[in-house]
Amino acid sequence: MGNNIVIAIDGYSSCGKSTLAKALAKNLHFIYIDSGAMYRAVTLYFLRNDIDLKDHEQIIAALHNIHLNFHSRDYQTHISLNDEEVSDEIRQMPVSENVSTVAALHDVRIEMVKQQQRMGRSKNIVMDGRDIGTIVFPHAQVKLFMTADPLVRAKRRFMELSPKNPDITLEQVFDNLAHRDYQDTTREESPLIRAHDAIILDNTNLTPAEQLAFAIGKVKPFLK
Ligand code: C5P
Repeated sequence: MGNNIVIAIDGYSSCGKSTLAKALAKNLHFIYIDSGAMYRAVTLYFLRNDIDLKDHEQIIAALHNIHLNFHSRDYQTHISLNDEEVSDEIRQMPVSENVSTVAALHDVRIEMVKQQQRMGRSKNIVMDGRDIGTIVFPHAQVKLFMTADPLVRAKRRFMELSPKNPDITLEQVFDNLAHRDYQDTTREESPLIRAHDAIILDNTNLTPAEQLAFAIGKVKPFLK
């Protein structure tokens, strides 16, 4: 790693990682990278093209055909899959229900981690995900591990999803989060685990402003 600063934010699903990451990036003028969006976009491609998850050759061929791009506008995640904007579609239930299975595949992780490391080679970045402080940037200057009460998390995600998905229920969202957390923490390949040097941030009872102040306090010593 060069002189650039990397802030790695890991944690369970819907813990507010991206909200904090965006706020940090905006405040510090860092680049924000949502690594989950990359796994989601790959999942969308696999679903659309009916990729057999047991077929190594098919997966490799598919990964060759996938070109992901981030466009940062207002520190929101805008991601394109082969030049098509898919930022909304990757948040829908079909992708959410399959992403943790796709993200557990060795070939997929090798490719995504390579791309993520390239993005953080020379710029100041904030990246959020599940393995950022452990695998992608083990030498990140600041590592946060976020957690929050599961019901609080499900309610937050439900509020986010329900305006565009009137049929969705809180129970569905709760079950999806629990299922993804289970898959993410128990998979063989880079499971979600706290890096030994990551600072735990439980935000069950913290406002976004309080979380931002806490995180900035941790980054300050590294700013010139
Ligand atoms: O962050 P988000 O919830 O959008 O991520 C979607 C899924 O992508 C996670 O549930 C996890 O299975 C996978 N993921 C991952 N490693 C990352 C980021 C996300 O395995 N660094």
